[in-house]
Amino acid sequence: NLTQRLSRVVKTLKGEARITESNIQDMLREVRLALLEADVALPVVREFTARVKEKALGQDVVGSLTPGQALVGVVQRELADLMGGDAVPINLATQPPAIVLMAGLQGAGKTTTTAKLARLLTERQKKKVLTVSCDVYRPAAIAQLQTVTAQAGAEFFPSSPDDKPLDIARRAVEFARSHHFDVLLVDTAGRLSVDEAMMREIKELHGALKPIETLFVVDAMQGQDAVNTARAFHDTLPLTGIVLTKLDGDARGGAALSVRQVTGAPIKFAGVSEKIDGLEPFDPRRMADRILGMGDILALVEQAQRQVDVDAAQQLAAKVKSGAQFDLNDFLMQLQQMNKMGGLQSMLDKLPADMQAKAGQADMNRAERDMRRMQGIIHSMTPQERHKPDVIKATRKRRIAAGAGVQVQEVNRLLKQYEQMRDMMKKMKGGKMFKMMQRMGGMM
Ligand code: GDP
Ligand code: MG
Repeated sequence: NLTQRLSRVVKTLKGEARITESNIQDMLREVRLALLEADVALPVVREFTARVKEKALGQDVVGSLTPGQALVGVVQRELADLMGGDAVPINLATQPPAIVLMAGLQGAGKTTTTAKLARLLTERQKKKVLTVSCDVYRPAAIAQLQTVTAQAGAEFFPSSPDDKPLDIARRAVEFARSHHFDVLLVDTAGRLSVDEAMMREIKELHGALKPIETLFVVDAMQGQDAVNTARAFHDTLPLTGIVLTKLDGDARGGAALSVRQVTGAPIKFAGVSEKIDGLEPFDPRRMADRILGMGDILALVEQAQRQVDVDAAQQLAAKVKSGAQFDLNDFLMQLQQMNKMGGLQSMLDKLPADMQAKAGQADMNRAERDMRRMQGIIHSMTPQERHKPDVIKATRKRRIAAGAGVQVQEVNRLLKQYEQMRDMMKKMKGGKMFKMMQRMGGMM
């Protein structure tokens, strides 16, 4: 399991202050194995680890990050870079109709993706979209595109298996132009494997249509085969983008890296379900996380470091040290500290899936709600009550409960929690207190 691999790396290097020749070797070995497990091609892995090493060596390890965590950060950024860094949107900037040609093997997901794309462009970009099928080899293929195009809420240009692909394409362009369509999506036939006839046909279509986008659709589950297919298509057609389908399956995503490497074309979309809305703009960063199999742990670490209000924590520590009483204002501050980090839910969202499952959604929802209610209760108190909670007796409790819209028992529960916290504070020295605040910040 990748998460375990990498967290082992992260653990072994606790306490070292920088990444050095001697401590990077083991880490890189784990990274190499992790990438191979994720289906990344060997030459790509070699080149990649060399790059990571170069970038990581001598890096100072900031704040509470260990060298292991810092290295994973480098790996993550480099992975995202390899896949293009920033997301590249589809290019439709041309005299309408903007023609998009779909290419790929049979079963890759061309027809499905054509309809999904029609839907995406219709709904999100308010484009008037026409689809057409040049797959004359299987009569069912044309009917399939018609059905899914209807689901997408776009228009379909009819064709017949008796027509020639080139004629169909020309007529569709003519129709799209005269009926003022913004976009024409051209679905094509694929074979089970790369063959000359298929390549000749798609090349002809490309020459006649002069599409602004030529998208290579590839099944992510194909792993290394995807790379060979990509190379063959890339040699024949000037690909402008890649669509990686079936990422909802157990594909490990390594193909994404290799395909991008081989073709040099950006991955523009990812297919994430069989449904008509199952297409998303491709996000290299998220894919890097997926390959690493570690959710957004690093982002979480960074977020915690950035947002825990160190000043406030220090002030509180000083206060406790001086013997002053930890009051409800301090308690409120602690609650707010957690909110600043986006609350428990946002922390949970950043954890890998298996850890999320363990944390339990129901518990998390309850904890989150409790925290909000607790803050509401403290807000219903007067400054004096917050400062000297001992004055809060039955009458005040009733008033506070009514103000916060809760039962009196909840006010009691909050006071109890506050008292526990206060007693804990008393036992602690100020220094420990500060450490604890930091731990709260780094809490995962
Ligand atoms: P084509 O031969 O390239 O046109 O491939 P199709 O569009 O007919 O798709 C082949 C199969 O893959 C169909 O059963 C689709 O429902 C399925 N499919 C396509 N894209 C995705 C995807 O992103 N996720 C999943 N789960 N299935 C997909
Ligand atoms: Mg098809």
